Amino acid sequence: MKKIILTLMISILPLLLPSQAGAEQAANQLREDSAVLVFASMPTTDLTQDINLYIEEAAEIEFPQLLQESATRLQPLARTAANFGFSHSAYWVSLKLHNPKTTDAALMIRQDYPLIDYVDFWDQDLAGVWRATSTGDRRVFDARAVGVRDFLFPVTVPANSDKTVYFRFKSDGPMNIGLSIADTGHTLSRVSGEQLLFGAYYGGFLVLVIYNLILFLAVKDRAYIYYMVYVVSYGLYMSVHNGFAFQYIWPNSPWLANQSLLLLLGVSLLFGLKFSRVVCSTQHWVPRTDRIAVVLQVVTATLLLVTPFLGYQDLIFAYSLLTVLVCFCILLLGSLVLLRGSVPARYFMVAWATLLVSVLIYMFKQFGFLPHNFVTQNSFQMGSLLEMVLLSLALSARVNEMQKLGYSDALTALANRRHFDEVLPREIDKAKRTKKPLSLIVIDIDNFKAVNDDHGHTSGDEVIEELGRILRKHVRRPTLACRYGGEEFAVLVPNTGMEQAGVLAERLRCLVKASPIKGLHVTISLGVACCTEDALDSPSALFEAADTALYQAKHEGKDRVCFYQLPELARRTDEAQPATS
Ligand code: GH3
Ligand code: MG
Ligand code: MG
Repeated sequence: MKKIILTLMISILPLLLPSQAGAEQAANQLREDSAVLVFASMPTTDLTQDINLYIEEAAEIEFPQLLQESATRLQPLARTAANFGFSHSAYWVSLKLHNPKTTDAALMIRQDYPLIDYVDFWDQDLAGVWRATSTGDRRVFDARAVGVRDFLFPVTVPANSDKTVYFRFKSDGPMNIGLSIADTGHTLSRVSGEQLLFGAYYGGFLVLVIYNLILFLAVKDRAYIYYMVYVVSYGLYMSVHNGFAFQYIWPNSPWLANQSLLLLLGVSLLFGLKFSRVVCSTQHWVPRTDRIAVVLQVVTATLLLVTPFLGYQDLIFAYSLLTVLVCFCILLLGSLVLLRGSVPARYFMVAWATLLVSVLIYMFKQFGFLPHNFVTQNSFQMGSLLEMVLLSLALSARVNEMQKLGYSDALTALANRRHFDEVLPREIDKAKRTKKPLSLIVIDIDNFKAVNDDHGHTSGDEVIEELGRILRKHVRRPTLACRYGGEEFAVLVPNTGMEQAGVLAERLRCLVKASPIKGLHVTISLGVACCTEDALDSPSALFEAADTALYQAKHEGKDRVCFYQLPELARRTDEAQPATS
């Protein structure tokens, strides 16, 4: 388990390297008398099999002493990988290089894990003087021989000669020694290729942040803030891992280069949790499990507060444990809310599943179950970016859902008055523009007070719900039915004149009458009005007209449809204002 945790969180091994299997094969061909054969032109060759190692457990020795005793102290590394986990020891390494050709070989040795605290390198110049390069991420970035995210050490091996170089590695974090060698040209083209891929990766993060920042300015939902902090801290965390943060953001702060890893991990755990809780509305759906998340938030925040004052090794195990707990909690919250039918939770769970699968692919590759190729090697990074994209979709789904809730009636799931008030002016404008009629039906339940009084408020609610169901079933787009308030409903019928709307109204009246609700025979009264080019062409006029017709229907004995007729028309036909159907 510990191994898995470490693999997950701290040993994100050097990424974007081409096949090491191929490199190892090449190295085997080049090996001779424990010296690495080097040439003026040579591709990247892994050196793990060629290093001689001395682990300095306690007594500090200096380079001159090691040099004297190198034959006894330094022994060939009898393993295929030089990863030693956490260790207080210093690791001395020597490498013997042999150039059999008649041209000098200008080469670069690369240490591909950028998070080693202290890396010291010794090389003899042409006069035989030992030159030391002292670097590592506990030393300012400028100490590097070549300014790249990991460590490059230029070495020249003159024609027909041998050369031995020495390293000393010491670190509070995992001790991963990953040395390779190539000629300068190969090294530079490889580094620039990696740079492009990393640029695309971090560019993706940047686009997500900018895109969601703009959405935040429009929507003003705090979930966007949590998301952005999560994405930024996660992206920065990855950039610390890859050595870019130290190179570009805080090259003069070795303290930040080391402590930032834990600080950023803490911030992304905290905001990952906050984001998950908001986007899945866990307080609403699963209040008890949500409390566990709150406790984890408090623990994370506390750990974050003490992080600047404690050492890396004091904290890393607490952080590892917390990471596992938080991941588990987030997956639990997501699954529970998904089961409750939340739409954002679908995207949310797909996002996390993507990340998990990508981590599994990467681990299977590490353990040799999957081949080493571009996809398996970079699955973790690709998965994390994909996760962020999917989480952004979850965020949009949440906003959609919120808008829907804000515009719909909780009891009937019809549109609510707010929605109606927004749509009515739009529809009237459209009707005027297209010169098509627009009708409005206003509905009120008859004697509803009696239903409440005789059968209780709950039965009253059920009657309203049932009427909602009937309207949802029989009113289809573009016609819009909504609950206007209490036991009143409104149906807006575009492209339809008074007569046609009356047919729909009558149908609804019959449907309600024919559907007893829990044995109750409920009836409705309906008023119909129509907006024309030159009359009833404002929202209030149209609504008042339909309401007047409804009042007339009540007045004439309920359970009927009445039409609003324009006064002059009514006067001409010499009838009472509304006509009964
Ligand atoms: P009329 O036929 O004239 O419409 O008579 P009525 O009894 O329906 O009278 P009125 O429209 O004045 O009364 C509406 C009642 O509906 C008043 C209120 O208590 C009740 N009511 C309003 N909203 C709700 C609701 O959401 N649920 C329930 N159960 N009752 C509601
Ligand atoms: Mg009423
Ligand atoms: Mg009523």
